[in-house]
This record gives sequence, structure tokens and C-alpha cells, in this order.
Amino acid sequence: MSADKFFDQISILRCPVCGTAFSQCGASLRCQNGHTFDPSAKGYVNFVPNAAPSRYSRELFEARRKVLENGFYRHVIDTVKSYMPDANSLLDAGCGDGTFTKALQKQTTLGVDLNKEAIRLAARGGGPVLWIVGDLTRLPITDASVDVVLNLLSPANYTEFARVLRPSGTLLKLVPQQGYLREIRALMGDRLHKEAYSNDAVVAHLSERFRLKDRVRITDTYPLTKEQAQDFIRMTPLTFNTNPDELDADALKEITIDVELLVANV
Ligand SMILES: [Zn+2]
Repeated sequence: MSADKFFDQISILRCPVCGTAFSQCGASLRCQNGHTFDPSAKGYVNFVPNAAPSRYSRELFEARRKVLENGFYRHVIDTVKSYMPDANSLLDAGCGDGTFTKALQKQTTLGVDLNKEAIRLAARGGGPVLWIVGDLTRLPITDASVDVVLNLLSPANYTEFARVLRPSGTLLKLVPQQGYLREIRALMGDRLHKEAYSNDAVVAHLSERFRLKDRVRITDTYPLTKEQAQDFIRMTPLTFNTNPDELDADALKEITIDVELLVANV
């Protein structure tokens, strides 16, 4: 059964409410203070059953998956892989639909996202990854239990990342750069609130908890079909305050992926 994987690896999980260890109680994970969570037969466990609704819809994650399946992030995945240390365990914090997680998975892999729709999509099709609806500020994961934390195009919580990493563990964080999806920004024109792009604040914040070892810029521009252009428009929060149908997908002929990989140690 798909829920068994959670009981098989129960020692890597801890209660998100009180932080104590789980034991198996029938079909439930039960902590020492009696908080219980039931892994779903669909292959994930929801540790945030009362999460507020998200603006990130199932449609957004499905569009994002199509973009990923079309290979636009292949170069990014290959670069992240090349900086991945030899490791047995991996946490993808803010894993979204799980495409990156599956491409980079290790013997023990956890994919955590606060968005239930994303995790349901990730868990579809089975597999060994422990898919978790969870809060990055209160990870349901034991101290010093994973070798690598991935944090790809997602908000971070460095205190929690440092807590769950083993000594000398590695953090691989991907952040957008100045040219990221610039063609969509141009298409939106005045509809987009313009912010200057700088990763200095990200790097400063990360450096409070981690030692930054490498910064790797990954930049590519790809031609787009109309359908691919529509997927890009639908997958990005840039267009949240706009009706995507108002944007002229025909005018989006190419797209720039411009990101930076930050490689750091505890
Ligand atoms: Zn508890």
C-alpha cells in the first residue's frame, strides 16, 4: 500500500505540532503527545489539514508540469545534479509538483510543499518519494536526518533547513535572476509591479546560517510554440493579477530561463 512507505521510514518524520517522534498506530502516525496524521492511500501525508487556500491553483501546477516535461528546465536540472554530493537522503523543500524532486531523487527522498494540489499531483503515479503537505517553517522532519536540502525557486526557511540537515550537509538553492521570464514581464508591461531584481538580500540571509561555496548562473533562451507560450503564462505567479487570456500568447515567441544556483554547507 502507498501509505506503507511512511511507516517504513517513520524515524525521519516528527510531529509538526510538538516535535516529538511518531510511532505507528493502526493506519496513523501518532506522536508522543497523541497528535495523529493519516498517510493517504494516494501516497502522501497532509500535516497541515487546515491550511488556508492558496493562489497557486491546480491549473498553475499542471501548466508548470507541462513546461517541465517540455524540457525547458533540463539544463537547470543537469546543473543542479552536477553539484549534488554523494548522498543517501534528500529533502526537496517547496517541491511543487515534484518534477525536480523525481529527477534528482536519492535512496530516501522527501518532497514537502504547503500546497495540497501540488502534492497530490506529485504523488500521482506512485513511487518511493515521501510526499508531504507541510509547512517549511515547521518541517515535520527529525533533526540532522537528511544529507541534502533542495530549495528550487521557492521561499526558504534557513533555520529549519539547518536543523534537518546532517553535519556538513548541503543546501542547493535556485533563485531567479534578472532575465528570468523577461519576455512575460515585457508582455505584461504596465500591468506588472516592477521591482529591481537583486539576490544580494537572499545571499545575505542564507549566509547567516550557511557557508556559501558556489554561485552558478544558468541562462538560456528558447523558442516557443503558441501552446508552450500559454503554459508559461499560466504557470507563473507574475500573471496572478491579470486574466491570462488578456495576454497575447502569439506575441510570446521565446522565453528566457535565467537563474542562479547557490551551493552552501551547514
Ligand atoms: Zn505532537
